[in-house]
Amino acid sequence: MKLLEERIRRDGRVIGTEILKVDSFLNHQIDVQLLDEIGNELYRLFKDAGITKVLTIEASGIAIGCAAARVFQVPVVFAKKARSLNIGTDTYTSRVHSFTYGNDYDITVSRRYLSDADRVLIVDDFLANGAALNGLLAVCEQAGASVGGIGICIEKGFQPGGDEIRAKGLPLQSLARIRSMSEEGIEFFED
Ligand code: 5GP
Repeated sequence: MKLLEERIRRDGRVIGTEILKVDSFLNHQIDVQLLDEIGNELYRLFKDAGITKVLTIEASGIAIGCAAARVFQVPVVFAKKARSLNIGTDTYTSRVHSFTYGNDYDITVSRRYLSDADRVLIVDDFLANGAALNGLLAVCEQAGASVGGIGICIEKGFQPGGDEIRAKGLPLQSLARIRSMSEEGIEFFED
């Protein structure tokens, strides 16, 4: 998605070799016009997938999930992050290793809001090693929900998550896919 790539080039800040900060437009201060375009692009990619629900993870995924859900006209559900888990019978849960903070946390989704009747579009801001996404996939599996699409805003293609997900045959589309980055600049994969 050219608009997103241009915005990342203009306003993204690379920290070291692995972290990209996009908090001036995507996950702290938010440009809602850009989010609307992201929602439209996700709709263009997955409109024929029979999506009944958008699933994401708090906090950064929520705005993106809302932008998508508005266009698909379905609800958005976000997985909650829990520091210590009260295992209950009313939630699906999965453990996730945080790329940005280096710790583990659990995610939970209420059984009330995801079921085997759902066909899910999973969305998130970043894909790095794939831990967050694998947690969301585990939640879908526990619910018996099928995955109709995975839409990621920014995939860091030099980290293994994206290739591993594609190798499993899952329908992953990344709107901006970074080949390499440094403080000197950012290179995207052409598609
Ligand atoms: P993964 O679980 O794929 O290793 O990392 C994805 C999660 O970590 C995303 O939900 C995102 O919040 C966070 N993340 C990973 N890499 C970056 C990054 O370069 N910048 C920011 N801001 N968040 C990242």
